[in-house]
Amino acid sequence: MEACIIGAGVIGVTTAWQLAKDGWQVTLVDAANEPAAVTSHANGGQLSYSYVAPLAEPDVLPHLPQWLLSPNSPLRFTPRLDPHQWSWCLRFLRACTTRTAARSTAQMLTLSYLSRSVLHEWLAETPIEFGHAFNGKLIVYRTPKLLDRARSLVAYQAEHGSAQKVLDADACVALEPALAAIRKQIAGGIYTSSEESGDCARLTRGLADRLAARGNVQLRMGTAVHHLERVDGAVREVVLVDGSRIRADHFVVAAGMGSVPLLAPLGSRPALYPLKGFSLTVPCARGEVPAVSVTDYERKTVYADLGDRLRIAAMVGLGSKDNRIEPARIALIKRQVAELLPRIDLTHAEAWAGQRPATPDGRPLIGRSRAARNLWVNIGHGALGFTLACGSGRVLGHLMAGTEPEIDAGPFTPNC
Ligand SMILES: Cc1cc2nc3c(=O)[nH]c(=O)nc-3n(C[C@H](O)[C@H](O)[C@H](O)COP(=O)(O)OP(=O)(O)OC[C@H]3O[C@@H](n4cnc5c(N)ncnc54)[C@H](O)[C@@H]3O)c2cc1C
Repeated sequence: MEACIIGAGVIGVTTAWQLAKDGWQVTLVDAANEPAAVTSHANGGQLSYSYVAPLAEPDVLPHLPQWLLSPNSPLRFTPRLDPHQWSWCLRFLRACTTRTAARSTAQMLTLSYLSRSVLHEWLAETPIEFGHAFNGKLIVYRTPKLLDRARSLVAYQAEHGSAQKVLDADACVALEPALAAIRKQIAGGIYTSSEESGDCARLTRGLADRLAARGNVQLRMGTAVHHLERVDGAVREVVLVDGSRIRADHFVVAAGMGSVPLLAPLGSRPALYPLKGFSLTVPCARGEVPAVSVTDYERKTVYADLGDRLRIAAMVGLGSKDNRIEPARIALIKRQVAELLPRIDLTHAEAWAGQRPATPDGRPLIGRSRAARNLWVNIGHGALGFTLACGSGRVLGHLMAGTEPEIDAGPFTPNC
């Protein structure tokens, strides 16, 4: 059987890896010249298996005025005359209930734990160097109220298999001495020893390089798909912007935010909205940077040691529709980094911006599209695409083969 996958970000490449392993003839096509050129390029590097709670949770509501008004808020909302934005926001607000957030968290944990075991399985078969570190994650809270709220999430997640520890401020600094500079501002933290980190782009490219060497995979980079041609309820071929065509038995759209314009002409409208974020990549030797992955909770900033570089990612912007690197936001991140890690030299920090392809309730859409019987989607991984990629590829592989996935795929069924 032949499959054509559109999109060579981390989601498309892990899907291709699973299908190629399952014996499919795979064509992987992407507009960019190399894999992981868009959102998978310089993300936060967190393999955050135990932190999959959606952004849509009840705690969001009291913070909305601050997001709208403060230029220094890590979350920023730019209202637009865009019905898609308002309908997405409405669905997001509807998902901000304790019940919905708890249900989504439990469902996402099944996918994230599967992702972890699939990644480990693939790496055992095919080692790939991508700065993979098993260094745990420490989330630091500055206010006792938020720490208390985190305590209840820890208790809830423990019921679903997460082992996490609540630490006081001294224990946080003992675990991660780099936090000494802000010791007085820390209320405490949550430490999860099982969390991992790594460079998403290097993993994606490592997998893509090995796929290119396989006899059953063809990579077509540097050619955008113009549209999908549907005949009698099935996609017959994809038409590329250079006029060439790719025929296959099945088609997978895994094109991140680019999935929306590809699916729209087929009448398929996934509720995806871009949540903009930024990262800094700083050349550093191991030992100069935090040994554990640190998240500064109130600032919504994550720090990951990629081996030879420190990756810092921050900010969530709803309504900024381009990938422009905004100097004021980057300057704010740099000030916050200097406060947390005063010894880090940011002179050569490389700034980047990306758009998280987000669904209102945080759950990705993995499965058959309603638009055609041989059309599948693997989209909407929001802030967790690196974390969830391998499990998402595995689940889609099972669905396309007509076999039972290891987890219940029902919560991720596309409604588009
Ligand atoms: C600031 C920031 C920090 C993040 N931190 C983390 C983190 O720490 N951990 C984590 O798990 N996740 C993180 N994420 C989220 C993660 O990066 C994304 O969820 C993930 O990269 C999405 O992957 P994707 O393959 O769906 O999309 P992309 O990586 O955007 O790939 C889509 C691909 O489709 C191609 N494409 C689009 N349209 C077409 C077309 N018409 N024809 C051909 N090709 C097309 C594009 O060129 C692109 O290569 C972060 C994101 C951001 C922005």
